[in-house]
Amino acid sequence: MTLSSIFAMPEFADHLGLDAVVAFTDGEMGLTAFQRAAAHIAKCSQCAHEVDEQTMVRSQLRSAPCPAIPTGLLDSLKSIPVALPLRDPGISTGP
Ligand SMILES: [Zn+2]
Repeated sequence: MTLSSIFAMPEFADHLGLDAVVAFTDGEMGLTAFQRAAAHIAKCSQCAHEVDEQTMVRSQLRSAPCPAIPTGLLDSLKSIPVALPLRDPGISTGP
């Protein structure tokens, strides 16, 4: 690697991953990670755009009405037994 190629490289090699974009938007990053991400976003229009989109989606989801559960589905779920039937004592599982 030559000196001129080092200066031609961008300051960051990788963009923020989806998990980092979501964590940044949700405010769930540690301070150091948040500062690094914010510094990257300030210089990277691609990641800034992804954070903007994630912020918009987050806002739309939080303002959306709660979906209703179809009554047929709810009845089906209630009919599922919550406990397994007792074992048949006549069946041996050991040696
Ligand atoms: Zn980026």
